[in-house]
Amino acid sequence: MAEQEKRAEQTDVLASTQSVIKKALDKLGYPDEMYELMKEPIRMLTVRIPVRMDDGSTRIFTGFRAQHNDSVGPTKGGVRFHPNVTEKEVKALSIWMSLKAGIVDLPYGGGKGGIICDPREMSFRELERVSRGYVRAISQIVGPTKDIPAPDVFTNSQIMAWMLDEYSRIREFDSPGFITGKPLVLGGSHGRESATAKGVTICIREAAKKKGIDIEGARVVIQGFGNAGSFLAKFMHDAGAIVVGISDAYGALYDPEGLDIDYLLDRRDSFGTVTKLFKETITNEELLELDCDILVPAAIENQITEKNAHEIKASIVVEAANGPTTMEATRILTERDILLVPDVLASAGGVTVSYFEWVQNNQGYYWTEEEVEGKLEAVMVGSFENIYKLSRTRKVDMRLAAYMIGVRKMAEASRFRGWV
Ligand code: NAD
Repeated sequence: MAEQEKRAEQTDVLASTQSVIKKALDKLGYPDEMYELMKEPIRMLTVRIPVRMDDGSTRIFTGFRAQHNDSVGPTKGGVRFHPNVTEKEVKALSIWMSLKAGIVDLPYGGGKGGIICDPREMSFRELERVSRGYVRAISQIVGPTKDIPAPDVFTNSQIMAWMLDEYSRIREFDSPGFITGKPLVLGGSHGRESATAKGVTICIREAAKKKGIDIEGARVVIQGFGNAGSFLAKFMHDAGAIVVGISDAYGALYDPEGLDIDYLLDRRDSFGTVTKLFKETITNEELLELDCDILVPAAIENQITEKNAHEIKASIVVEAANGPTTMEATRILTERDILLVPDVLASAGGVTVSYFEWVQNNQGYYWTEEEVEGKLEAVMVGSFENIYKLSRTRKVDMRLAAYMIGVRKMAEASRFRGWV
């Protein structure tokens, strides 16, 4: 196979996810039919959304909604606004959501959505129109008991609020359980905004215990300074770790003595951009290879590949982003005895608290921040331990162990329903 083709295959997030699902189902002893069911979403909708722009012109945006498997319950997953969104990526992301739901034992399957657009170049009103247009386009297949969206890259609680309002107007009743990641006043949950980073922090703490690393004084590098990365930087800083590197889409900052996280948080914009304010920056590539104890990719896919996996200095890599490490790089890191906590476990805090939000919406009774955090802590610690133990007893890497646990409930539910 030509070098270029080989690389394209390795960075194809759908193909690599499918290959691990296949391995996981084989290890669990399921027949090939189960893999045939699991390898693609059961439903994939592509929509075209006409939007009147501020200058009076009309632009047609393309959006997607993937529903991977609804054998366990309604599907659930975020909506991404990004110029590089593709159908394949949305499919892979929906499969990862199914796995996360299985790992943290939620009554959901996975879903995911995306719109090809660049919100950084759109006005507030244009963003509102595209958000509402998307909901109108997918309204037939979503709903509180069908498929429940949430925020993801470049979407936030304001966008969830517009989407909720549009859905409630279409259905002619208020349906807070239609979407999660909402503002508190519209039925959002305490702790949702920082939930992904909280979950990652718990995974870092558990992984550090296994590696005998003290969080206090540990050197941490975080790629991405958006929702996941910035809260994480704050939590690590508050726990006494030294955050020596952070980055955004435009570059990275490095200080071996530790960055001033509170200052950076204060100066970042709503898209997680902060490095533009500094003259002395390094590249994202250099950031990943910095000398540190803990490395957290919290931005986008395919950042740790066969090209740089040998250069990673950290002893622990915790994937806050979805799909930041290729399968070949996973193999190299595992061989080098670097403890890799996979995305489907590490970033499951977001969907866990989204589930708590949905439960609170359904019962109309709301929990305190302490209650939410206590429940999240128990879920994340238990899930980490299950996966770590399985990886040791079955002598498989943490990713495969996570996939085995993530896929099992969905496979069992599909079998009981008589689908396979
Ligand atoms: P966000 O939009 O808030 O922030 C993204 C960050 O990544 C920004 O700092 C941006 O500048 C940076 N970035 C974008 N392109 C980049 C590039 N090419 N190189 C380096 N940095 C780049 O997004 P988020 O919600 O923090 O999500 C980040 C990752 O975490 C994604 O993979 C997402 O799927 C995953 N995740 C997020 C949540 C959540 O609840 N927010 C939950 C689970 C997983």
